[in-house]
Amino acid sequence: MQITKPHAAMFASPGMGHVIPVIELGKRLAGSHGFRVTIFVLEADAASAQSQFLNSPGYDATLVDVIGLPTPDISNLVDPSAFFAIKLLIMMRETIPTLRSKIAEMQHKPTALIVDLFGLDALPLGGEFNMLTYIFIASNARFIAVALYFPTLEKDVEEEHIIKKKPLALPGCEPVRFEDTLESFLDPTDEIYRVFVPFGLVFPTADGIIVNTWDDMEPKTLKSLQDPKLLGRIARVPVYPIGPLCRPVDPSQTNLPLFDWLNKQPDESVLYISFGSGGSLSARQLTELAWGLELSQQRFVWVVRPPIDGLASSEYVSANNGDIRDGTSDYLPKEFISRTHERGLVVPSWVPQAEILAHKAVGGFLTHCGWNSILESVVTGVPMIAWPLFAEQKMNATLLNEELGIAVRSEKLTSEEVILREEVKKLVQRIMVEEEGYKMREKVKKLRDTAETSVSCDGGSAHESLSRVADECKLLLERARGMARGA
Ligand code: UDP
Repeated sequence: MQITKPHAAMFASPGMGHVIPVIELGKRLAGSHGFRVTIFVLEADAASAQSQFLNSPGYDATLVDVIGLPTPDISNLVDPSAFFAIKLLIMMRETIPTLRSKIAEMQHKPTALIVDLFGLDALPLGGEFNMLTYIFIASNARFIAVALYFPTLEKDVEEEHIIKKKPLALPGCEPVRFEDTLESFLDPTDEIYRVFVPFGLVFPTADGIIVNTWDDMEPKTLKSLQDPKLLGRIARVPVYPIGPLCRPVDPSQTNLPLFDWLNKQPDESVLYISFGSGGSLSARQLTELAWGLELSQQRFVWVVRPPIDGLASSEYVSANNGDIRDGTSDYLPKEFISRTHERGLVVPSWVPQAEILAHKAVGGFLTHCGWNSILESVVTGVPMIAWPLFAEQKMNATLLNEELGIAVRSEKLTSEEVILREEVKKLVQRIMVEEEGYKMREKVKKLRDTAETSVSCDGGSAHESLSRVADECKLLLERARGMARGA
């Protein structure tokens, strides 16, 4: 019997950090699994989202549409000083009526609706339009495990963890240290707790959860989520590990002067330092990091942002084009740039990270442990110095350091204490020149090989996972056709 193409409608949260993983998933669905894909984004992201598609070969671009939805005015609904994630959530919520009318207007209704973390409120549209629904978690399995388990905790168990600071036992997984728990889960009187802790209760209402990870990256947690006697009992719906899903390296981005410099450096000799799209350090930490780098005598590329008042910040900044200039000298130690210029580059604000990590001169990554940064490091075989600042980054750092053994880390909490120059120097040397770092590099390269196998169209586990999603969608189409014939 001829089956019409399955059609996925994807609803992406605002900001390219959220849109890019959705786009990459859309490309996979269209390129390897025969889907038509419609991606709904807010208007501000539409042009960049469209260009991400146009620039990527490997699939039929006529199978993918990007539709910009008007940005809702939320000024009367939320305090301007509210936590940015609450603003995102409200924006997404207010956009649902427009999304509903766009789907209603479509001549061929989508077979599946895929929403990301801030789009959970759109899941009921699945029932309205007879679509399967999937939640796409661009983070990892451990995040899903904690998000699912936390709202089911008895009060006294929760208090043992967040008041007495005891580790939280997660069925079938490594326990969660108090220090690693997401800040938004720590204060039941806070609006952020009241908004975000119940999120996990919504997960089982979808038809499945798609997550950007793979078996070798998080074996225990994925097993537990898929085991009906362990966390699978709470998840209740299939969890599909489809990672790693990363933006591919774009050769047109490597024309910048910093690549000329990288081309002249020995293989695996440069430490790349970045705190993601939103991380910044305090002035004191910035100074200690600079001194530590200088003392380490190692080569580096450092994306330096202006310092902030607290110890770390999660405010998001806009990108620039990656020009090299030394305007950052205002907040770095006096003459740091001139003293280190032969073996280091300081870059303000933004660089093409995936391309830098893929360069053969790069041999280490000092990272804030955002999940995309971690994946980009793993797929290029680069070991890390874990320097988590906020949100799930602390859990991610523990995964890298203790479970996978592919990152070194300070015993101090980088989110709460200043790491002094001597320790920075040691961390850098451990990863770049010591035996420990070489061993980690070997391990991360083995993990990189498992990543390649996972996404292989020739029976890789990520490919198989998405094939199961495609099969469910095809089954729904067949049923709909059968019903139409019977009517
Ligand atoms: N990124 C980049 N250049 C930069 C900083 C970040 O290309 O100077 C990209 C990086 O490659 C990654 C994303 O922005 O894909 C950051 O995502 P991640 O999950 O690591 O951290 P977040 O920014 O969400 O905290």
